[in-house]
Amino acid sequence: MPELLEVSDLVVRFPTPIGDCDAVRGVSFSVAAGERVGLVGESGSGKSVTAQAVMRLIAPPGRIAEGQVRWAGEDVLGYDRRSLQRWRGAQAAMVFQDPLSSLNPLVRIGRQITETLRQHLGLDARTATARAVELLTKVGIPDAAARLRDYPMVFSGGMRQRVAIAIAVSCSPRLVIADEPTTALDVTVQAQVLDLLDEMAAEAGTAIILISHDLGVVSSFCDRIVVMYAGRIVETGTTDQIIGDPRHPYTRALLDSIPRMSGVLPDRLPFIPGGPPAAGTRTPGCAFADRCALAVEHCREHDPALLPLTTHDRREAACHLVDGSLAHARSSDSGRRNTP
Ligand code: SF4
Repeated sequence: MPELLEVSDLVVRFPTPIGDCDAVRGVSFSVAAGERVGLVGESGSGKSVTAQAVMRLIAPPGRIAEGQVRWAGEDVLGYDRRSLQRWRGAQAAMVFQDPLSSLNPLVRIGRQITETLRQHLGLDARTATARAVELLTKVGIPDAAARLRDYPMVFSGGMRQRVAIAIAVSCSPRLVIADEPTTALDVTVQAQVLDLLDEMAAEAGTAIILISHDLGVVSSFCDRIVVMYAGRIVETGTTDQIIGDPRHPYTRALLDSIPRMSGVLPDRLPFIPGGPPAAGTRTPGCAFADRCALAVEHCREHDPALLPLTTHDRREAACHLVDGSLAHARSSDSGRRNTP
């Protein structure tokens, strides 16, 4: 599949009282047309910041300090305001964890949908309204024509997320980035919202980047998974490779922390001990070393690079012990030290 989105060596920097902090540190990945890619990692791993950078939504004083974002070969970071506006919505759209952050609470739902349709597709008012009713019906909003006059606050969390998905897919974008779209919803509604996203994307051949802290959710939805830790990618592979043969200790820990629904429930739900390094406090070696049961001295001194594990697909890992011994270490030393 040809690449639709290519992110290369992305660095996103935020000033802090103790100096600049790189929330995303040299991230590279790509998404092909129609592909579903999961970005997974704990809170603070840089996955949402990566998505915001792709959409050029990093709020100052944060900034994209290095790297490239290419869309079908075009330089997204070079788009002027007008090109960016045209690209967002028509080509690439985003669904947020809290739909209220993308819906205007003071504007009726109908107007929010029709404005998007009129701006990007040039529809007249009557056609845009008819399309809005069609979209709301499709995403499961009962009595859609009457609900066009409602304000976002009138809808439940699950219904608001349905409206946000309707707006995101309204112009048939080629990519939707869904950032924790189900985290704020209860479990039954979560499944419905993911099914809806699945259905809408399949119908239009839309590629999806699904961002989640939950490897279980991502594995049920995505073709490929990118695992992030402390602002970097630590493993990539197909969903089968990541779930069936995880090669990075952090990926294995994420898998182990998915609660099992069979057998006797443990007293305490599984979790990964410790926490990611605080922003701006990078150590010279592997950022996961303090939480990794396999860590050896070499890990604490040398930052492992993300290296291909195969020659024929995008299977990569950043770990000195990926082959079970330090034999891999020399080639996986990134040659650079983590800096705050
Ligand atoms: Fe663990 Fe070392 Fe691999 Fe880092 S490089 S994940 S510390 S084994």
